[in-house]
Amino acid sequence: MEVIVSDQQPQTAAAKAFLAAGAKKMLIGGDWSEAESGERLDSRDPANDSVLGSVPRGGAADVDKAVKAARQAFDNGVWRNMTPDDRGRILWKVAELIESNIDELAELETLDQGKPLFVGRWAEIPGAAMQFRYFAGLTSKIQGETITPSINYQPPGKNIFAYTQKEPIGVVGAITPWNSPLVLEAMKIAPCLAAGCSMILKPAEDTSLTAIRLGELILEAGVPEGVFNIVTGLGPEAGQALVEHPDVDKITFTGSTATGRTILETAARSNLKKVALELGGKSPSIVMDDAEMDIAIPGVANAIFFNTGQVCVAGSRLYIHKAVYDKVLAGVADIATNMKLGHGLDPDVQIGPLVNRTQADRVKGYIDGGIAAGAEVVVGGEQCGDTGNFITPTVIANTRQDMSIVQEEIFGPVVVAAPIDSIDDVPAMANASRYGLAASVWTQDISRATRLASAIKAGTVWINCHLMFDASLPIGGYKESGWSRDSGIQAIDHYLETKTVCAVV
Ligand code: NAD
Repeated sequence: MEVIVSDQQPQTAAAKAFLAAGAKKMLIGGDWSEAESGERLDSRDPANDSVLGSVPRGGAADVDKAVKAARQAFDNGVWRNMTPDDRGRILWKVAELIESNIDELAELETLDQGKPLFVGRWAEIPGAAMQFRYFAGLTSKIQGETITPSINYQPPGKNIFAYTQKEPIGVVGAITPWNSPLVLEAMKIAPCLAAGCSMILKPAEDTSLTAIRLGELILEAGVPEGVFNIVTGLGPEAGQALVEHPDVDKITFTGSTATGRTILETAARSNLKKVALELGGKSPSIVMDDAEMDIAIPGVANAIFFNTGQVCVAGSRLYIHKAVYDKVLAGVADIATNMKLGHGLDPDVQIGPLVNRTQADRVKGYIDGGIAAGAEVVVGGEQCGDTGNFITPTVIANTRQDMSIVQEEIFGPVVVAAPIDSIDDVPAMANASRYGLAASVWTQDISRATRLASAIKAGTVWINCHLMFDASLPIGGYKESGWSRDSGIQAIDHYLETKTVCAVV
């Protein structure tokens, strides 16, 4: 298949200037710093493997400096004791700065991550701004309760007055993945800062450029020095050091289930810091026989191919009612066949490269393993491009529930399809997974839809849509897809402690 990787350059002067400035630094205590070791990691364009720049390879010593800066900023109250209204105003300003730099940020995200430009420009970067605006509004709604306990042993003539107050949890470490860097970082940073915490962000090593640009915007908006810090580097080095650090109160993590498990074990061995986990998924799209085909077919195709399939909630298992199986499968295969692959900055491109060669090889390995196990590639299945980083949009049929392509998260543009006989089969098939992140149900029958929404064990169920994100909609997983929720009003609670005050008065 043809892969269009002509020499693509950013259009915005700001993106050009950011890249031309070369080696990037980390943000610690308001200063842009090198790693103590002096070592650096290359940032590469995955479409052609060219070097875009480099970031410091931070390690334990840098994490320690960042945690000290964050602790000092927390203890001196410069941020948490600011009025909620003032804190909200600054977070709102971050949203405005993201929006006024949106073209630059979208281009940098495409260059660093590979995603088609429209994904960042129209979905993810606006989504990041929305997170800051949403949580800016919540700074002034953090409140406790008054409580009337039934305690009856207070001294005679005295009363009990009890209340709860919400307090920022302290110093937070946020560790994030490479698939949708800026928006996933915003989903941690916005509620964390809104709650009054100080924090250290460890972005994914393959995609740290927009985090650094965001750090500049966060300082420009007026977040005080030391409140927001960035340590770039590798997971087992900078990430591990952050999780091990005894003065970090909480880790908020988005990434794979395997890394989530390691983080939990490390946190348990250190200071038993609190951990929030947003992990992997293998989400089903379920198309019933009465679905509106004009909406369902492009909808389930988009559910898997958007962002080149590198989406935690991607609709990677496609269950289709037998009455419409051939039609839906052919429709999705047709869309896959006609998608344009290439450099994400090319405006015609719909499928970019995978983030790196390791990930592309991993995806190809799953496809080959599926074929060896008896599955049939309806369309796609090729690894291509000069760098081998591209995988053609792939539809696989003749699958069985026990195949690894059906059970494991592939995290690429690969969907596995299977027929269903009746609605009664759906819950068992959809729930036969260790994951429980999301699902979509495509039907015009509202009672069928809501019945399935209740029966499916997943943190989000979409009806006649998939990939609908909003800062107000909680997202997170059942089962091995995670332990908490990002977005929505409750997300701010992850960064707050509840203190009970009980007084005899
Ligand atoms: P990953 O788990 O490999 O890495 C995520 C982050 O963890 C990176 O910053 C990495 O450097 C760091 N890390 C790696 N090892 C570490 C360690 N030992 N200690 C501390 N930090 C460590 O994930 P990825 O490959 O970057 O991202 C893809 C995964 O993320 C997929 O499984 C996807 O489903 C998941 N994801 C989940 C959500 C969600 O909201 N549930 C959203 C997006 C992505």
